Amino acid sequence: MEVEELIWKYALANAYAHKGKANPKAVIGKVLGENPVLRPKAREIIPLVNEIVERVNSLTPEEQGAKLREVYPEFFEEKKGKEERRGLPPLPRAQRGKVVTRFAPNPDGAFHLGNARAAVLSHEYARMYDGKFILRFDDTDPKVKRPEPIFYEWIKEDLDWLNFRIDEIHAASDRLELYYSYAEKLISMGKAYVCTCPPERFRELRDRGLACPHREEPVEVQLERWRKMLNGGYREGEAVVRIKTDLKHPNPAVRDWPALRIIDNPNHPRTGNKYRVWPLYNFASAIDDHELGVTHIFRGQEHAENETKQRYIYDYFGWEYPVTVHHGRLSIEGVILSKSKTRKGIKEGKYLGWDDPRLGTIRALRRRGIRPEAIRELII
Ligand SMILES: [Zn+2]
Repeated sequence: MEVEELIWKYALANAYAHKGKANPKAVIGKVLGENPVLRPKAREIIPLVNEIVERVNSLTPEEQGAKLREVYPEFFEEKKGKEERRGLPPLPRAQRGKVVTRFAPNPDGAFHLGNARAAVLSHEYARMYDGKFILRFDDTDPKVKRPEPIFYEWIKEDLDWLNFRIDEIHAASDRLELYYSYAEKLISMGKAYVCTCPPERFRELRDRGLACPHREEPVEVQLERWRKMLNGGYREGEAVVRIKTDLKHPNPAVRDWPALRIIDNPNHPRTGNKYRVWPLYNFASAIDDHELGVTHIFRGQEHAENETKQRYIYDYFGWEYPVTVHHGRLSIEGVILSKSKTRKGIKEGKYLGWDDPRLGTIRALRRRGIRPEAIRELII
């Protein structure tokens, strides 16, 4: 193609995108950037660009449009294609019929806009690829983030209201024996151990990158202590199962992170006092994503550390880690999303309930008259 013709194309396109005024520097960048063979001739091309840009800029927008259509008809086709792409971009490494996603809320509060992003993306992509969408209740913290029966129901109702189709529902609290069997495997493999250090003592060693006295004890001793954990031979706070990691990992929180701990009288809403040993979030979540065949995970950027921890388990078992898509936080100015603040506010009588219109729960938005399609489209 003639160099002049090429410059005309880029200059007109640039003018079209910038209210009729092409920028010579942008045009030079485009000409040389997309046609490296012309770079050695930059000295000759630059004055030519300046001249053509001047001519283009002296035309009226109508004349520019007509000329652009004449010399560069593809420009409008490309443009049209871009404008017409709606919805989500393709998902990396996704195959039709094989995408499995999950939404894993803790039923310790109502479903709110803060987790709606992960939920909507998970569901949309599962549908887009004719895959499977799993709802998994992450309910293994009967102490600090205590699940409550009503929220299991509400979360299902809210997902229904958002027109989600849920293919499977699981509760982590039904799966404790599965977690135990994996814990035992890891201990037998020498990749996990039972630590009975007082927490302060362990932290002190960990922060200095040192192993605690239990780490290198023989597997038989570890297994014996593991059984003692299950049989009630230790009380809360006296023993934890730790995953072996890199003791010099730059993030001390990653070093030999705790996987299971004891809770006396958990009084769990679904299993009562049947189990005393409870997995921590990262352990249960890592095992379940593998067991449930999850292929893609959508999570907030703040979960990057959790992923680093969970990858140790995948490496030890030789499992393939799901594809993760990290997204930022979604917030709405002046709207409270924090579950603990909400709970406190309700208790103090500041809010009327979980559906108080000042809150960011799905129930509150619904009460305000916001339609489910609006929430879905906002996130997409
Ligand atoms: Zn220890």
